[in-house]
Amino acid sequence: MTTNTPVASLRVTAPEAQEAYDTQALQQLDSAHYLHPFTDHAALRERGARVIVRADDVYLWDSDGKKIIDGMAGLWCVNAGYGRASIADAVHAQLLQLPFYNSFFNTTNVPAVKLAALLAQIAPPQCQHVFFTGSGSEANDTIVRMVRRYWQLAGKPGRDVIISRRNAYHGSTLAGASLGGMAGMHAQGGLPIPGIVHIGQPNYAEEGRGMSEAEFGLHAAGWLEEKILEVGPDRVAAFIGEPVQGAGGVIIPPATYWPEIQRICDKYDILLVSDEVICGFGRLGTWFGCQLMGFEPDLIAFAKGVTSGYVPLGGVLVGSRVAHTLIDKGGDFNHGFTYSGHPAACAAALENIRILQAERLVERVALETGPHLKARFASLTAHPLVGHAETCGLAAGLNLVRRKGQTAHDCEAFPSTQAVGMLCRKHMFDNGVIMRAVGDRMIVAPPLSISVAQIDEMVDRIGYCLDLTLEEVAARGWMA
Ligand SMILES: *Cc1c(COP(=O)(O)O)cnc(C)c1O
Repeated sequence: MTTNTPVASLRVTAPEAQEAYDTQALQQLDSAHYLHPFTDHAALRERGARVIVRADDVYLWDSDGKKIIDGMAGLWCVNAGYGRASIADAVHAQLLQLPFYNSFFNTTNVPAVKLAALLAQIAPPQCQHVFFTGSGSEANDTIVRMVRRYWQLAGKPGRDVIISRRNAYHGSTLAGASLGGMAGMHAQGGLPIPGIVHIGQPNYAEEGRGMSEAEFGLHAAGWLEEKILEVGPDRVAAFIGEPVQGAGGVIIPPATYWPEIQRICDKYDILLVSDEVICGFGRLGTWFGCQLMGFEPDLIAFAKGVTSGYVPLGGVLVGSRVAHTLIDKGGDFNHGFTYSGHPAACAAALENIRILQAERLVERVALETGPHLKARFASLTAHPLVGHAETCGLAAGLNLVRRKGQTAHDCEAFPSTQAVGMLCRKHMFDNGVIMRAVGDRMIVAPPLSISVAQIDEMVDRIGYCLDLTLEEVAARGWMA
């Protein structure tokens, strides 16, 4: 076929009145015209993209009719699950009532006002104001500008350095990628931008050898104090971190880590920023991850779960210290987006949060589904390929290893060139479960609406795919 196939011809009605798709034609058009995020396009052209056409509850269907359990909630975002007609209805009604109006020039709109007030209710009590953006990356860009503006207004314009962590993910805009600690991202495009520095991540399995978890938490938080002293305390504006690192591989810090980070930030009068784009809206069994981890941030970035991904929305919850300075002393804050407070996005968020509350999904993660996932993941460590597994709420990760050890510290990893995680991910896809590979760490973060029975279905499939991966890896002679 040529790339000029009329798009309408790609979708035909099958005899049984089910929609049928010409997968190959879609794949060819896709590779001819569509540049995907974080994708090797030459490799994708060889393989052809998987075309997802429909979703309901915790399941996806591809264009060949294959049903897949979505262990990643889209991309950590479909917290309420798929197929929520009431969110679609709320957006539809809002589009008819007022599809768009801006919040510049002394105007506002009803859904944005209502959502701001609702967020102030569910957020940690120090956060009573919100700045809306279109995404998590824009939320973190906003934070960079907001903390620097704050210190200008506070009479300390020299405080402009933001400390972040290696292997952090804070988005893909220039500031977001700079705050992030992904070497592969920094290598493309001359990043990080000036005034952003990084410390190590609190990864006990990788860095905590010879220490208890509690000792390691304090040790890793100590890297922040070292960096502050190196940069100079009067130069540091803020520290930013994800309560649990998501894209980095579901890295769960020891319980001692965040309270010590808070103590250090307080000691040096540094703003503490929590990137809750993944942890917010119930992922860890609390509304925000900082509530589980025991710290009180000055600023919170959110996105993803706020609308369950039905439409894009992000924002910054602003604590009283920063909010009052901006409001009382700031004059114009020269920052904002056309879609800040978009009425349809805010309508989606209002209905999404109503669902999370009405179905008590956050409490269910804490009391029922989170503990069940933890138990089922712990049982996977009996598998010959699994070195160790960790969960927090409905986020979980396990490490594929060449040789198991007594503890996470004496497992032997596969050489990264063997890309065992990618092999495993392919078996998962082919067998109807989506699990993400971060190197050889396999991670899940399913919709918060997932049932206990569906967790069993997901983990059973994961176990089966681990068997297939082991067979393949053993056949290649890669096991120790
Ligand atoms: C996804 C993510 C972002 C970026 O959000 P986008 O909506 O993709 O811009 C920022 N921080 C964290 C922790 C994320 O997981």
